[in-house]
Amino acid sequence: MGPREAHVDADYDVAIIGYGPVGQLLSLLLGERGHKTVVIERHENIYGMPRAAHFDDEIARILQAVGIRADSSAFIEPYDNWYEWRNAEGDTLLKVDWRGHGPSWWHTSNFFCQPELERALDARAGSQPAVTIRRGLSALDLSQDEHGVTISVAPAGESHRSAASETVTARYAIGCDGANSVVRERSRMPISDHGFFYDWLIVDMMPGEPMHFDPPAWQLCDPARPTTLVPGGPGRRRWEFMALPGENTEMLNSPETAWELLAPWGLTPENAAMERHTVYRFQARLAQKWRDGRALIAGDAAHLMPPFAGQGMCSGFRDANNLAWRLDLVLRGVTDDSVLDSYGPERGPHVQHFINFSMELGKVICVPDPAKARHRDLSMRASLVNPSPPPPAAPPRLGHGILRPHDSAAGLLSIQSRVKSRDDSGLFDDVAGRGWRILTTSGCRPRLDGRAADVLARLDMRILRLGEKADTDVDLIDLDGRYSGWFAQLGADTVIVRPDFYIYSVTDWNELPKTLAELDSQLPTPARPGSLNS
Ligand SMILES: Cc1cc2nc3c(=O)[nH]c(=O)nc-3n(C[C@H](O)[C@H](O)[C@H](O)COP(=O)(O)OP(=O)(O)OC[C@H]3O[C@@H](n4cnc5c(N)ncnc54)[C@H](O)[C@@H]3O)c2cc1C
Repeated sequence: MGPREAHVDADYDVAIIGYGPVGQLLSLLLGERGHKTVVIERHENIYGMPRAAHFDDEIARILQAVGIRADSSAFIEPYDNWYEWRNAEGDTLLKVDWRGHGPSWWHTSNFFCQPELERALDARAGSQPAVTIRRGLSALDLSQDEHGVTISVAPAGESHRSAASETVTARYAIGCDGANSVVRERSRMPISDHGFFYDWLIVDMMPGEPMHFDPPAWQLCDPARPTTLVPGGPGRRRWEFMALPGENTEMLNSPETAWELLAPWGLTPENAAMERHTVYRFQARLAQKWRDGRALIAGDAAHLMPPFAGQGMCSGFRDANNLAWRLDLVLRGVTDDSVLDSYGPERGPHVQHFINFSMELGKVICVPDPAKARHRDLSMRASLVNPSPPPPAAPPRLGHGILRPHDSAAGLLSIQSRVKSRDDSGLFDDVAGRGWRILTTSGCRPRLDGRAADVLARLDMRILRLGEKADTDVDLIDLDGRYSGWFAQLGADTVIVRPDFYIYSVTDWNELPKTLAELDSQLPTPARPGSLNS
């Protein structure tokens, strides 16, 4: 498909269907790279209902890249405490450590207000000259040929394909259209369901006076009413109440019921404002296929998980970050579009990790049966007093894709820390910029030519020498010594990091030409017009 793309008259490079947080981030990342992007969103305004409240340090690094800083945004509250799970008697069943900073430098855990974050992303995406946002339009159908995708759209509210009033064409269509994705459905991308689902009432509150809970984020695993209490960003608190057997959505989803359930927590209409409430069905689903030719999916369109680990939107942001650099390479003609094949295989296992973790947490709290809750309490309390704690869980890793095969660290997240260059200092991405990066502590001078030099130029890769003190050979001083610790842990002097912050390979400087040749072969250049495979 590659070479012909330059001659195709599609209206846009990319059409993004759905402008929730994932569509917003993806349109911004593509717009920043100058790709002509159209967004089709049925809602006229930002969706105001309560949903995500938590993101981790990796997501804070992604937000840093688009100018949203977790430590100084009015709608984000960095968290530095435990996330505790207690039974009805107040005994601790489980403690998740959400203290301190994570590998991406930002706080491991941050609470925020989703509509405010969406507003911030929307403002940035909307100011990109290459991005056109069309609200009030529903995508009804899509079809594709070798040149591009045609999307039939109609004013929001229409759901019949015959109601289509216009078509939009693009070289690629990305379905960021949420759980009931039209793009996924029309492109026949199957989704598997873990059969884990519960209804919960979600309530976002604005207490008149700050409320103090110790810790601020915890779960009450009381079979009489499983309840979540977490911060909701500055000035807000979030409560979530599970529907009990026999309760239906209508009963639960009323302000009266919400106030009744909030009363034991000391909240009344006199001392707090109820910002919004709604009932959601938590589910666990994962698409088996993420690409069909020129159509791909991201975010909730590709996966759903219960919110107990606070990772649904986070996973969607990782999808967008993974897809953005691939699309960029394809649209600039640097690689052929086979690079899009490995997007789903990479992301699927990573998301599965968080689906599994979220379901495990869900199995702890979604227990309305008192006998089962008693049994759970006994076994969990026994494991909590066990003096030898289990080894830390392995970090999630990308599945097979644009990663060096048989490489012990390929597919793991890289770290970010503070560095100092000749004329700047700060966080690595702020000082060194974004893109493919080769970080090395090797004292050897670069001598890369031939194929290695070609790959560097083609991918716009930068080589950055890190050291602990100023030296003529050092580009960046490792201000906190974190990079030297990281290199020691990796057992190598050179790391190739992709634009989405994941490790392509750890290697030795002397092996770099060979490693770059391997990368080169994974990213084939588009065939020339007229050649057989064009
Ligand atoms: C109660 C709750 C708590 C949560 N807590 C967390 C948390 O703490 N941390 C976390 O990371 N995640 C959390 N999540 C998950 C998170 O909210 C979602 O993963 C995230 O909002 C998904 O973003 P998205 O952009 O993929 O999809 P959505 O936000 O669903 O956006 C999809 C968009 O597509 C539009 N659309 C759909 N179909 C069409 C069409 N045919 N044409 C045009 N437009 C269309 C919709 O109008 C919508 O705007 C939570 C979810 C819930 C319900």
